Amino acid sequence: MCCFTPDRVDLSMNCCNVVHMTVSSTPTSLGAGQVLRGVPVVPGVRYAPVIRPGRPPAIEELDSGEQIGEEQRDSEASRFTAAASAVADRLRGRAALATGAASEVLAATAMLAQDRAWLGAAEKRIKEGTPAVRATAEAVAQFVDLFTKMGGLMAERVTDLRDIRDRVIAELSGLPEPGVPVPDHPAILCAEDLAPADTAGLDPALVVGLATTLGGPTSHTAIIARQLGIPCVVAVHGLDELAAGTHVLIDGTSGTIAVTPDPAEAAAAVEAAEAANAAMAGWTGPGATADGHPVAILANVQDGSAARAARETPAEGIGLFRTELCFLNRDTEPTVEEQAAIYGEVLDAFAGHKVVIRTLDAGSDKPLKFVGHPDEANPALGVRGIRIEAIQPDILERQLDAIALAAEQTGNAPWVMAPMIATPEEAKRFAARARRRGLVPGVMIEVPAAALLAERILDHVEFLSIGTNDLAQYTMAADRMSAELATLTDPWQPGVLALVAQTARAGASRGKPVGVCGEAAADPLLACVLAGLGITSLSAAAAAVTGVGAKLASVTLQQCRDAAAAVLTTASAADARAAALDVL
Ligand code: PEP
Ligand code: MG
Repeated sequence: MCCFTPDRVDLSMNCCNVVHMTVSSTPTSLGAGQVLRGVPVVPGVRYAPVIRPGRPPAIEELDSGEQIGEEQRDSEASRFTAAASAVADRLRGRAALATGAASEVLAATAMLAQDRAWLGAAEKRIKEGTPAVRATAEAVAQFVDLFTKMGGLMAERVTDLRDIRDRVIAELSGLPEPGVPVPDHPAILCAEDLAPADTAGLDPALVVGLATTLGGPTSHTAIIARQLGIPCVVAVHGLDELAAGTHVLIDGTSGTIAVTPDPAEAAAAVEAAEAANAAMAGWTGPGATADGHPVAILANVQDGSAARAARETPAEGIGLFRTELCFLNRDTEPTVEEQAAIYGEVLDAFAGHKVVIRTLDAGSDKPLKFVGHPDEANPALGVRGIRIEAIQPDILERQLDAIALAAEQTGNAPWVMAPMIATPEEAKRFAARARRRGLVPGVMIEVPAAALLAERILDHVEFLSIGTNDLAQYTMAADRMSAELATLTDPWQPGVLALVAQTARAGASRGKPVGVCGEAAADPLLACVLAGLGITSLSAAAAAVTGVGAKLASVTLQQCRDAAAAVLTTASAADARAAALDVL
């Protein structure tokens, strides 16, 4: 085996062997020793050759430009339907083999492959004489246009749609399915962008690193990479020029990709990271600084199976159960009993421990069919999260009934929190609904207005949980899905951290807990800064729990406070990171 894997460093083999299946047609213009920079997403250091996704079918080569005769149109339409079904079936098959968010994402993409709107648009064209390949491309282009104009919500759907287009066209043309190859050696996957469906299917033993030119740190692809524990850097400048076969050293902590590094130095870097990992693996919780200041380390989950996996880590409880992810592929609202059974699985996995259930954060990039979202020009600023109570108040009522029923059935009473709260009035209404059912109410702080009025919000609820992904998006007025704006949506932005500080101070003055459950809590260095700002719990993907807990255990509360004070005086995310590194 060539190259370095998490548990193996093998320099005795010829590391110049190229992974067989993909050769980029773009020659690398990058020289040895060059370092590409991006936004770090999942920590870890790996050295391996680059692989690239297979090239999508070249539509212009497959389409003669002719129309088809009337006698052929029915059979061409059937051929198209069969190809779309075959693609959906394969995605469903992969969904069945995956778990957690990966399975949800694959199932959602399979559903999109069978979505009547775009299938109908393609069929209409075929009935008018357009061959299936061109009809597929045109129908998808029509929806890509539409989604792009609609803005934020659709960024990931556009990637998914193009992915489905390429798969269907390959199927129609008898070509191998495009997308991510399965390497036969550990490799680092570099791509312009990856559909969540591709990321979800990755084998972390073979794809040991991930880098993309596009994609923000809180895109679903990044979230899945974190769940899989694959070191990942996104929004990497110059990555497109890196050819398959080039050996690189990826560092998911610093966000760098070193091109053709000295093999011995690369080996040393991997070994040092492994040693740090091994020291970290000895950490068993509970969360506290080296001098004993407690900060609960919790896990983010999206269903029972993820909660059971999180139970295998030192996580002390669940800090964020994203309930909307359970229902992404549902056409109809689940009954109270169905919901209670799903929530009960998570409560059972953490029996006797804290579990924070978030009510549906439907809308924006996570629309739910049964909510009936209005058509909006700007869904990220539209009816999402708690705001769906205005159009569907009973959905929230029934969800709270289901959570109360799950609490009764499992004997584990969760805390509940509402997403996207913007005013104390919304918090008050939500708290009353939760308390009527004997549930402990809290809210998420994701909107700058809520951070600014955190004290007044705490007059109504028992706890706050800061969603740094959206707080960064709304504070910086930068779409969290945008690669171009990834530097702005970086949770290290001093403006975002100032609002975190303000929220933490509100908690201290009211004597109520304030946690962080956004991706910021998954960054060990930033986690220490958050603790220094006065955050009382950190909730992150299960794969990040040990890293965060171990780092926190290696520093004192005073160091955390010094780092927090230092980052608040900086003027950029990069300076904030550097200031924290200096102290910690
Ligand atoms: C957040 O916004 O930080 C958060 C935790 O919620 P989500 O990522 O699900 O929007
Ligand atoms: Mg959010």
